[in-house]
Amino acid sequence: MNLVSDKLLSTNDRNCGSKHITVLGATGSVGTSTLDLVEKSGGRFTVRALTANTNVTALAKLAIRFRPQIVVIGDEKCLPQLRELLTGVKVEIAAGESALCDAASLDVDMVIASIVGVAGLRPTLAAIEAGNSIGLANKECLVSAGTIFMASAKARGVQILPVDSEHCALFQIFDTSQSSAVEKLTITASGGPFRTWDIQRMENVTPAQALRHPNWDMGPKISIDSATMMNKGLEIIEASHLFPVEPDRIDAVIHPQSIVHGLVTYVDGSTIAQLASADMRGPIGFCLDWPNRRKLPVKTLDLTECGPLTFEKPDFERFKCLQYALDAMNEGGGLTNILNAANECAVAAFLKSDIGFLDIARTIERTLDRAVANGFGNAPSCLQDVLEQDARARTVAREIM
Ligand code: NDP
Repeated sequence: MNLVSDKLLSTNDRNCGSKHITVLGATGSVGTSTLDLVEKSGGRFTVRALTANTNVTALAKLAIRFRPQIVVIGDEKCLPQLRELLTGVKVEIAAGESALCDAASLDVDMVIASIVGVAGLRPTLAAIEAGNSIGLANKECLVSAGTIFMASAKARGVQILPVDSEHCALFQIFDTSQSSAVEKLTITASGGPFRTWDIQRMENVTPAQALRHPNWDMGPKISIDSATMMNKGLEIIEASHLFPVEPDRIDAVIHPQSIVHGLVTYVDGSTIAQLASADMRGPIGFCLDWPNRRKLPVKTLDLTECGPLTFEKPDFERFKCLQYALDAMNEGGGLTNILNAANECAVAAFLKSDIGFLDIARTIERTLDRAVANGFGNAPSCLQDVLEQDARARTVAREIM
């Protein structure tokens, strides 16, 4: 089932020259970090396709800078404006979800899957179906449809390389020849901006406060997920699909300095950790260059300058989203898909100031309860089931809000 643990050599890594890549979600935080690496790579990467959702201006600028074969905008209403901005530029232009899937299916050495949310599921699956290796940032793919996603990758012999810093860390230190000797996986969490706040104070958090992450510069959705600690819950679910370790042996610890990213504990009492500065270009560059390592434009750690590295247990009472994510994972069925859908809806509503910060957790809890009570929490068996269950959960979450 598990692919990351096998560390298969991608068929695409046969290529010693310039690697062709596609970036899904090119205008986002992971997308732009990826393209920064491409620009600084001295021609080692050629961009084949770039996609965005509505940000035509940024996408057009990237098209002019990187000269891909094709650019795709998800929202079809934006197509005329994109065409206008790219008048005279030699690039194919398309719009809509099926065009996103077509772009993802172009033959490349790696697709960086960095669309946010379940919106990335269909295009990333299309990339897998086409046999493209995946640098996976979009964790929601695994939370909503992990079993189907990994089965599809396995059936196609497709390599999934984790871009998420904690999973990239685990990938680097997980000894696949000793899988059965792995006792525990640990991922770290910064704790977000409200790590030390009491629950009364958290009730009145504003979107601007929640978006201000102490260590990482990320897109809005993952920044809110970090503030509620849902992000860590999503990541434990993600790890359970990527690594051959039972879910109850995957742990999260709070590490406010974000220097240690992942740890593997072996049965002999040895724990091996991966450390790096908090810069997503590290894990993205690792994936792009894998199985080789090359110099990256990231700050090398000087441990004498890091200050004390501290670790503490998460507080499941104040950060209920983390508890709900673990419950959904342990309960199984389609509950992680429902959790994800409810979370995406609630985060979007919070960002528009339609609900309060703690209402995110309340919405998720009540959506999960309703799914169980109404019998729509079963495991989806195909992509269509996943998307229907996702839509139903969103309707319920909106009613609750
Ligand atoms: P951003 O919000 O910064 O970027 C999201 C990208 O997806 C944008 O290019 C956006 O286009 C595009 N997009 C959004 N909605 C759709 C849609 N419906 N159809 C097609 N494209 C869409 O997100 P991040 O880069 O922060 O995160 C991307 C993913 O990577 C998330 O799953 C996140 O959890 C994960 N991740 C992010 C990290 C980070 O440091 N940012 C770290 C680890 C994982 P447009 O600009 O037009 O809206």
